[in-house]
Amino acid sequence: MKQIYLLLALLPMVMGGCTTQEAAQEEVQRVIYLIGDGMGLAQVSMLEIEGGYAPTAFDRAERVALVTTRSANNRVTDSAAAGTALATGTKVNNSVLGVTPDSVELTSMMELARDRGRATGLVVTCYLQHATPAAFYANVPNRGMNEQITEQLMACNFDVLIGGGMRWLDSLHCCQMVERGYQVAYNLEEAMPINSTPLLVLLADKHLPHAPERGDYLPQATQKALDLLAANPEGFLLMVEGSQIDSAGHAKDAAYLLAEMRDFERTVAIAMDFADTHPGTLVVVTADHETGGLSMPSGKSDFTLSESGIDYRFGTGSHSAIRVPAYFYGAGADRFPAMMDNTELAKRLMEVMGLQQ
Ligand SMILES: [Zn+2]
Repeated sequence: MKQIYLLLALLPMVMGGCTTQEAAQEEVQRVIYLIGDGMGLAQVSMLEIEGGYAPTAFDRAERVALVTTRSANNRVTDSAAAGTALATGTKVNNSVLGVTPDSVELTSMMELARDRGRATGLVVTCYLQHATPAAFYANVPNRGMNEQITEQLMACNFDVLIGGGMRWLDSLHCCQMVERGYQVAYNLEEAMPINSTPLLVLLADKHLPHAPERGDYLPQATQKALDLLAANPEGFLLMVEGSQIDSAGHAKDAAYLLAEMRDFERTVAIAMDFADTHPGTLVVVTADHETGGLSMPSGKSDFTLSESGIDYRFGTGSHSAIRVPAYFYGAGADRFPAMMDNTELAKRLMEVMGLQQ
């Protein structure tokens, strides 16, 4: 009996100890979430091989994980379901943005961050209504509902929005955005002197041009967004998408893919450099799924040769079911496990930011 009393007396102390330990893990205030659409491990390997094995920004990662990507209804996910998983921590059916199979509308981590007074931003090389960025603000039963998605984009109240999408976010809609307080620019040079938010930069009817035709757009727009969001003392969440890694995989175009990977890698470096100079910043780099079933077999089977060459082969013009890599750098990087589902990655990220619902 005495032992039981002792145990009961000790229990609150033990539990109290745990709570104190958890509280000691500080909330991460600033998060840069980089999503390479369609970027599997083969795409990152191709970047390394074609760069002569010179170190890349990916090599700076302090933790690496392998992430499963299946959607609620398909072992091969599309970008809408995978984007929703990465934005909300919940699986939905393919083609759906932010609505569960039971018709529950989900709230994204970007919306939670906004509601907690953190600064928020989206920077993409596709149109802002496209699946990955839309997963952070939209709730629609089908990703093709661009008019409805545009209405939801206009209501999202994020501080920085940079990408394409004038096809639906036309001049009339832009006037409404100005009425809502947004500064609107139509090229990056025009946006550079603007030093306050909210800011909308619309650069294309739909997708932006391919890399390298769009120049330094993605690294520069990311740096601009970081400069603007860093002004918020409560911190920020910025999502940056290398949107066209996916397009290159769909096109089975190795040269296009390499150009997109190089552009994305330079952007990852910008994010990591920011984390170096702003302690308390976490950089997460991952993909929604792999596109193209890219493999890189030896060009010749004779390994007595000094160099056999490498073929870049695409097994599909669609997505594949393989795990994708995730790279973590900066504050809280050690709080992610090595093997995760994409929903767990998002849930952990929300936990690290102190954004649990
Ligand atoms: Zn995708």
